Amino acid sequence: MTDPITPHVRSRAAMEDASRDLSYPPSPEALVVAVYDNHTHLEIADGENPMHYREHLDRASAVGVRGVVQVGTDVQTSRWSAAIAAREPRVLAAVAIHPNEAATLAENGELDAALEAIDELAAQPRVVAIGETGLDFYRTDSESGRAAQLRAFEEHIRIAKRHNLALQIHDRDAHDDVVATLRRVGAPERTVFHCFSGGIELASILAENGWYASFAGPVTFKNGRDLREALDVLPRALLLVETDAPFLTPHPFRGRPNSPYLLPHTLRAMADHLGTDVSMLAAQISSNTEQVYGQWDAEPVTAPGDPWADRPDAEHPEPDDVSGRPDELTTDQGGA
Ligand SMILES: [Zn+2]
Repeated sequence: MTDPITPHVRSRAAMEDASRDLSYPPSPEALVVAVYDNHTHLEIADGENPMHYREHLDRASAVGVRGVVQVGTDVQTSRWSAAIAAREPRVLAAVAIHPNEAATLAENGELDAALEAIDELAAQPRVVAIGETGLDFYRTDSESGRAAQLRAFEEHIRIAKRHNLALQIHDRDAHDDVVATLRRVGAPERTVFHCFSGGIELASILAENGWYASFAGPVTFKNGRDLREALDVLPRALLLVETDAPFLTPHPFRGRPNSPYLLPHTLRAMADHLGTDVSMLAAQISSNTEQVYGQWDAEPVTAPGDPWADRPDAEHPEPDDVSGRPDELTTDQGGA
């Protein structure tokens, strides 16, 4: 029997080039003023010793990352995200069908049922955002796949507005269509471009509309100049920060497993580029984050127990539930 709140077993390590360094980087120096990780996937295992979600959160707390938005990419991971948010004060949840997943579900005639399930999850306490949804023209280039993504994106926008939730957008090689869709359907009051990937032009559109830009590891990369230029033109009140863990690990640990405790590297690189004090920027971003999602303790945790018990391998001794097995891998959601 499958536990309804056990997420897909996904292992990034098994999906990608196994030659990369699979060790978790050391913890950075703790922040003085705490921030939140606006977008992470704690259910995706990575590294030679995958961590339980509570270890991720404990290491994050120790360096001043006080909470995370745990993001679903399909019905099962969305359900899991809502379930841990209900049990864990450091977690709020976002639920959605990822655009690449939407294309696959549509092919199988399963998209409508999945969107209905997301609509139901959106009503749960501590579900604060609809995401990640949007358009991904990098991985999906067929006409029908793009049409399915668009249909799913439009429906997610409606769900976010119906439940008065924030929207977390995945936009990969699709800036113009994402913006056009938001304008056509009408953007929710709090709209976030997760892993912001535009330059000055897109940043100006966000600034005009009051949409938020959440920066991930790439803003620290050598080739991240466009992102840093975008940072310069965005009002500070629209800035957010995220890891998108286990992907997009910030410099100087690019390629190694990512986790919310590595967020300070990205925040410090942003402050450094902006020529501002790290604590000032942290205070601004924390306040922005609470504007978008509310307070982490606004809805107290209520559900008893824990979906993975104490350790993933305690309930699922064979094999370790978070280590991932190639035969159970589903599609790669990651990278943004
Ligand atoms: Zn993501």
